[in-house]
Amino acid sequence: MGNCCSTRYFSRKSLRVAKLPLSTIPAGKRSKASREALRQRRIAYQLKNQAKTCAVPGCDHKRLMVSCYCRGHYQRNRRYGHPTGRLPTQGELRSIEGAIKAWLQDDHLTTDFAKRSFKSSWGSAQRIITHNPAFALPFFRLEGDMGYTQKAKAWVILSNYVHREKNSLSDAMVRYMACRLWSEFLWQMPNGKGGAVKARNHFVNTWAGKFVLANSGFTKSKTEEKIIRWEKPWYVSDDPVQNRPRPITERVTTKVTLNPFKAGPIVRAIGQELHAAVDHAMGIAWQSDTRLLEKAYEALGLPKDNSTNERNT
Ligand SMILES: [Zn+2]
Repeated sequence: MGNCCSTRYFSRKSLRVAKLPLSTIPAGKRSKASREALRQRRIAYQLKNQAKTCAVPGCDHKRLMVSCYCRGHYQRNRRYGHPTGRLPTQGELRSIEGAIKAWLQDDHLTTDFAKRSFKSSWGSAQRIITHNPAFALPFFRLEGDMGYTQKAKAWVILSNYVHREKNSLSDAMVRYMACRLWSEFLWQMPNGKGGAVKARNHFVNTWAGKFVLANSGFTKSKTEEKIIRWEKPWYVSDDPVQNRPRPITERVTTKVTLNPFKAGPIVRAIGQELHAAVDHAMGIAWQSDTRLLEKAYEALGLPKDNSTNERNT
């Protein structure tokens, strides 16, 4: 019986979004009882968890919901991909990008064959993350609960980045590589988390995705009446209400970007797409190429005496 209901649900939904084949959360896939059981388990865990203190050493705030961090550290982790510590600056990432380009030219693509095969694999990597221009939905389509998955939202932002703003996917992929290299030297395993690969991807994807979101032009303009000053009536009336100062308003139009808290999982989904593209184009050997690591190390201006080899994991 449950099966029949869910088919009806899906067919109605697919009719509604027939023009946009973006994936949506498969609602109604779980039974009511199973969802309730999950909820109860989460609540029980949450109660136990909230009694503990934050996983960051020296922070004695209580944990938030099911997170291993307090509210402040949780929010920082969601926004920046790391609860504490140093974050990459735009200047650092740009200079690593320069190092990557220099490495490609001087060390990696030295033969004609290498150049040709690089060109084709880089091109096909871009095709795997290029989506239909129709995916470049406007801002309001992502507001509220539209039912899109984070991955679908990532496609929307990437499509805005490529098709609306005419930015190049190469830049985004090189930025991903720069974030990955930055993490090679300055990223540290966050306290309270398990799984170094997952934690690092969380961080690298955040910073690569942020770059795409910032250059996607994904904003909306909001017009509102703003009070610029108050005016006292020039007459004095018997009615006290008439004597009150009156607001002078002005129509102000501001640009609103995606709320950084909400954007967290979306930028990471974008980063994941870039990750897939870079892996497709370059494989994974590039991450441990010593000539590239040396160039990146130099670009970051890190002290010379510190050996780069001991950092490899
Ligand atoms: Zn904390």
